Amino acid sequence: MRSFLLLVLLISAASCTQAPEPDPRPNILFIFTDDHGAQAISAYGSKINETPNIDRLANEGLLFLNAFVTNSICAPSRAVILTGKYSHSNGQLTNVETFDGSQQTFPKLLQQAGYQTAMFGKWHLKSDPTGFDAWQVLIGQGPYYNPPIKSATGVTEHVGYTTDIITDIVLDWLKSGRDTQKPFMMMYQHKAPHRRWDPGPDYLTMYDDVEIPEPRTLFDDYAGRGKAATQQTMSIARDLTDRDLKLVPPEELTAEQLEVWNAAYEPKNDAFRAADLQGDDLVRWKYQRYVKDYLRAVASVDDNIGRVLEHLEASGLAENTIVIYASDQGWYLGEHGWFDKRWMYEESLRMPLIVRWPGVTAPGSTSDAMVSNLDLAETFLDIAGVEIPSDMQGESLVPLLEGEAPSDWRQSFYYQYYEYPGPHDVARHYGVRTESHKLIYFYTLDEWELYDLEEDPDELTSVYEDPAYASVRSELETELERLREYYAVPEDARPLEAQ
Ligand code: CA
Repeated sequence: MRSFLLLVLLISAASCTQAPEPDPRPNILFIFTDDHGAQAISAYGSKINETPNIDRLANEGLLFLNAFVTNSICAPSRAVILTGKYSHSNGQLTNVETFDGSQQTFPKLLQQAGYQTAMFGKWHLKSDPTGFDAWQVLIGQGPYYNPPIKSATGVTEHVGYTTDIITDIVLDWLKSGRDTQKPFMMMYQHKAPHRRWDPGPDYLTMYDDVEIPEPRTLFDDYAGRGKAATQQTMSIARDLTDRDLKLVPPEELTAEQLEVWNAAYEPKNDAFRAADLQGDDLVRWKYQRYVKDYLRAVASVDDNIGRVLEHLEASGLAENTIVIYASDQGWYLGEHGWFDKRWMYEESLRMPLIVRWPGVTAPGSTSDAMVSNLDLAETFLDIAGVEIPSDMQGESLVPLLEGEAPSDWRQSFYYQYYEYPGPHDVARHYGVRTESHKLIYFYTLDEWELYDLEEDPDELTSVYEDPAYASVRSELETELERLREYYAVPEDARPLEAQ
């Protein structure tokens, strides 16, 4: 009798201590950078740098060839991703507004559905993150070195290079912050390679002996377009500051960091001053300096992504973790003579988007479907088996990730940019892009532009007034109106006075 009781006790003790089965739903790791153009990713065919770790994701997953953003600027893109809604629906029209964190977002919905949610790195939405079990974020834009980092419990000072520090936080959380009974959704978001493109200590002299190829439109004169392209202030020739060009070092460096920095930059800067460059030669020098620093910042991002991918492998997490690489918009690396973003023109409209979903995405596959940052929220919910709210405005990418090509996929894409007056003086505009054409209306200038993307992929000559394009123009005007109605886009009520 006693032994029977002992047996019962042992069995019940065993069943009490036995761990429940872990939730089988996949983890989602969203790796997100700020201002990383696809031209600077070798998986996208970069002619100017190598990104072996981002390329790994493409080699093992699916690369989207036509991923577009709805509003090509930092905070609005982030808000679109969180909400699955256009800027006019989520309230974040520009970098000026404070994000309304009380609204529905995909992290909140995943959290309610039993995911552990985390956000580390650049947030840039002014209000504190909501819908996350853990968060540590840069304050505003955040510096490249020695960033103060804010969490729910206060602000912590860090010494070092921000790209490395954000990754350290991510690795710490993956190793010891996670609830292993729950799937996680983590947003791992870099400041880099945002302006002012400060390289990390390991890369201050990378590319010093290399000439970076110039884009064919570096000396664009904007003759084939309206006023907007001429009146911008994002020109490499005119608008880069001494600080952008590293003729002045970052303010936040420690004495030790400054010594390392100066050892790398002072000889280069002395040589530049001695050369006394003028005209196109000066533009060419600025281009080289700017792009090299940008690519140096990208090199650290790629290294750090490698650290995280290695940890996923070593810990066994890789098998059930979907890894996404994206950036908040595209970027100008000298095309049209520019830096920055904002335009509906190709380089800034495009975002890199690569998804590795083990067992689902075919290794090394691509999709040319028109997809968007608008689609990510629904995609993440779909992956997790969570019901997609009817007021989200994108499409789940899951069928595309599974290798299907849905016959009813979008054939046209709506874009709108609002931040004018504002930095870089890009006029407000909206428009529609199809596979072959793009119609843009700069509504504060009352100017239209139409591009034939097959004949003129660099968008150098608007054919809006060309009679040969009358029917294309008319079709696109109709489609633009249809999209504005479909997405319930109101007239832009944002005041035109400087903010
Ligand atoms: Ca950005």
